Amino acid sequence: MINRRDFLKSASLLSLGALAACNSKEATPAAPVENKNKGLGLQIYTLGPEMFAGDLNANMKRIREMGIKNLELAGYNADSHKIGEVELLDFKKAAEDNDLKIVSSHVTPGVLMGGMFQRPGAPAAKPKTLKEMVNDVKEFWKPVVEDHAKLGVEYLVQPMMPPRTINNIDDAKDFANLLNVSGEVVKAGGIQFGYHNHNMEMAKVTADSQAAVLGDLFSGMGMRDAQIIEDLYMDNTDPANVIFELDCYWTVMGQQDPVAWLTRRADRIKMLHIKDFMVLGASGAMNFKNIFEKFYANGNKYFFIEIEDTNSGKQFERLEESARFLNMSDFVK
Ligand code: MG
Repeated sequence: MINRRDFLKSASLLSLGALAACNSKEATPAAPVENKNKGLGLQIYTLGPEMFAGDLNANMKRIREMGIKNLELAGYNADSHKIGEVELLDFKKAAEDNDLKIVSSHVTPGVLMGGMFQRPGAPAAKPKTLKEMVNDVKEFWKPVVEDHAKLGVEYLVQPMMPPRTINNIDDAKDFANLLNVSGEVVKAGGIQFGYHNHNMEMAKVTADSQAAVLGDLFSGMGMRDAQIIEDLYMDNTDPANVIFELDCYWTVMGQQDPVAWLTRRADRIKMLHIKDFMVLGASGAMNFKNIFEKFYANGNKYFFIEIEDTNSGKQFERLEESARFLNMSDFVK
C-alpha cells in the first residue's frame, strides 16, 4: 500500500521526469490522477455493520466522498420493511441528502432459503420442491416491489440460489422458471428483475447428475452433454424479464472467465459486481481492465464494488483503498 507521503514523493518525481522528457522530446506517461467523478457503485453488504454504526448520515457522506455515486442495497427485511434497523424512507433520505442514488437492491425470497436458516432444535419442515414454490415466490415479491418502488430503485436482484438444489438440467429449468415468475411480478411493478451469481452457478449438470466444476475433465466420460447452470438460467428465462448481474470474482472462483461471459452473453449481462480477493486490484488476479472495457462496449454503466469479510472492522478503509484504485484506473468511467 502506497501512503500519502510516498505518493506525493513519487508524484513529484514523475513531474521532474515529465520536465526532463519535454527537454529530451521523449513521451512520458502522465502521472495517474485520482478522478472522483465517475459512476462508481457500492454494494452496501461490503460495509457490514459499519454501514449502520454511529451516524448513518456521516457514513453516507464518507461513501460519497470516495467518489461513489450509486448504491445497491442488501439487508432489506420483507417483514419489518427496513434496511438493517433503519426505516426504508429514512435510509433513502440519508442517501439522497448525500447525493447517493439507490439503483438496485438484493433480495431473496424466504421460501428458497427456508431450509438454510431453520432455527436450531426446530422440527425439520419438509422442504418444498422448486415446482411447489411458484406461488410462494409470486406472493413474496408483491409487497417487496411496493417497498422498492418507494425507494425508486431500477433493479431488484436475487443474489443466490439454495445450495445443493440444482442437481440436473430439469432442476435448473425449474429454477429458471422461478426467475421468470419473479421477473414478471417485479416488472409489473415497474422494476427490472435480475439474478446475481456465485461460483455454484458455474458448475455443470447433465440430464441426470451434477458434474464437478471441472466438468470438462470428464468430457470423454459421458459428460459431453453437461451444461453450465448459469447458461441454463440464461437460456430458459425471458430476456425482457430477467437480466443478469455478473459477479466477476465468483465467476473466476467457478473457473470461468468474466470477459468470455461478457462476450458470449453481451445481451444478458447488464450489471457487474467488481470484487477481488480483498481490496480491489491488490491480488493482480482479476483482469479489471478487460472486464470494464467489454462491459462498457456492451453499452452498460452500473457496477458495484463488493468486498467480503464484512465483520473485519476495516471495511471502510478497504472500501476507500478500492475506490481509489478505480478512481486512478483510466479504464473505469
Ligand atoms: Mg457479489
